[in-house]
Amino acid sequence: MGKETGFLEIDRKELSKRPIEERSKDYKEVAIPLTEEEACDQAARCMNCGIPFCHNSCPTSSLIPEWNDLVYNGLWKEAYEKLIETNDFPEFTGRVCPALCEGSCVLSLDREAVSIRAIELAISEKAYKEGWVKPVIPTKSTGKKVAVVGSGPAGLAAALHLNRTGHKVTVFEKADRFGGILKYSIPNFKLEKSVVKRRIDIMEEEGIAFQGNTHVGVDYSVEELKNNFDAVCLAGGSRVARDLPAEGRDLKGIHFAMDYLEQQNRRYLGDNVDPKIGITAKGKHVVVIGGGDTGSDCVGTAVRQGAKTIRNLELMPEPFPTRTANNPWPEWPFILRVSTSHQEAEQNGQIRQYSVMTKRFLGDGKGNLNRIELVKVGFEKDPATGRMNLEEVEGSNVVIDADLVLLAMGFVNPERELLSKLGVEINERGNVKVDETKATSVAGVFCAGDMERGQSLVVWALAAGRIAAKSINKYLSK
Ligand SMILES: Cc1cc2nc3c(=O)[nH]c(=O)nc-3n(C[C@H](O)[C@H](O)[C@H](O)COP(=O)(O)OP(=O)(O)OC[C@H]3O[C@@H](n4cnc5c(N)ncnc54)[C@H](O)[C@@H]3O)c2cc1C
Ligand code: SF4
Repeated sequence: MGKETGFLEIDRKELSKRPIEERSKDYKEVAIPLTEEEACDQAARCMNCGIPFCHNSCPTSSLIPEWNDLVYNGLWKEAYEKLIETNDFPEFTGRVCPALCEGSCVLSLDREAVSIRAIELAISEKAYKEGWVKPVIPTKSTGKKVAVVGSGPAGLAAALHLNRTGHKVTVFEKADRFGGILKYSIPNFKLEKSVVKRRIDIMEEEGIAFQGNTHVGVDYSVEELKNNFDAVCLAGGSRVARDLPAEGRDLKGIHFAMDYLEQQNRRYLGDNVDPKIGITAKGKHVVVIGGGDTGSDCVGTAVRQGAKTIRNLELMPEPFPTRTANNPWPEWPFILRVSTSHQEAEQNGQIRQYSVMTKRFLGDGKGNLNRIELVKVGFEKDPATGRMNLEEVEGSNVVIDADLVLLAMGFVNPERELLSKLGVEINERGNVKVDETKATSVAGVFCAGDMERGQSLVVWALAAGRIAAKSINKYLSK
């Protein structure tokens, strides 16, 4: 423990943010990393708890108190080495992780949690600046070949470890660029796309082959996969978006959030998005349906594109600002969160609405969406079954202007085409069934990330990719 009284003397400092007036006009990252001095101060707040709940609640089991102590003592290289012992890509989690660790930090019982994520980002960026993040070229070859299907965080983590163990790894990606949701869904203002490319470039130097524009199961057959590789790691994510089959759904102007976000990231990367299929919020009354990360990313993008009005609708009730009795520490706090995108929208008078359901989409008579009808809802407990039933509040219907609706209601399951061709078993939640080693029902086929867990978080995908790589290695060593 660096400074025994640090938590008593120093206040929490989070990542600073660029001013709203400035950042809402561009797509550059909103967050400003801590300076070295600030990171040292913040690390001094860590109490090096006997039971570090932060470590226990991190899916990568990050050695948080250890690297906090190293940062406090100015041992940055050692801190970086400690950090990557369990987390391969702190540059991603340092930017987009909700920081499950901070939710269970012991300090948060009495004061504000240690700024773990901000310190992680400071370590990661210092490591890149100092040139400590170097390609690790494998020193031996096992002669075995492994295919990784999907280049999101789960596939990247699996590929990194399999390659370093000496297997020949090919990452197949159906998109033209690599990184999965990191590349084409999460907006640049949260995660600069050059940060993803910087990592892929290093992995290529390490000897991993990246094959883009290749939809496995379509452009590359399952027979080729089986004949050319000794093992397979499926890391295709959970990509089937939840739809809203309300009246008027086929009107022009209703889109899935992923399509909208991908187009904006492509524009940022210099691609030409055909105006005939291009979706833009400019000058429109935008309604984003879904109050999670994806919805928030759509709000931030619509702000930057110059929407006339933005409403973000959520079916569930507004969370409380602080923990409730049935959500005690060290559980993740299910509290009201205000993302940087919501701050931007709210500053411009835009609205977030809870407990509201879309009844139907209304058109202008020419096939274009121009309004939607909403109704307030509540949840009533069914005394017989104990289940919560959705009830509409009578007389609460309203019609509002909407000429662009973005559906951001999550994902139901992974795409099935490749999975059914491979014959892997699917679990009751519609995801790929795996055991604790991430092995599927088909010998030699493993699965990691959203494809087996369901839509989740980057940090869970990274952790799963590591487990799958370890299990594949064991399987190939037999
Ligand atoms: C808009 C949005 C914002 C998010 N924001 C956050 C956030 O702030 N913080 C956070 O922690 N999490 C966030 N998430 C969730 C997080 O991004 C995912 O949990 C994570 O990316 C899952 O990683 P993955 O590797 O399993 O899958 P993905 O990232 O989905 O990658 C899967 C890849 O596999 C490819 N693929 C699929 N099938 C095939 C095939 N047959 N052949 C070849 N390639 C294939 C896909 O094209 C894709 O590139 C967000 C998700 C979305 C949609
Ligand atoms: S729980 Fe908080 S204070 Fe305790 S070791 Fe972890 S980061 Fe430090």
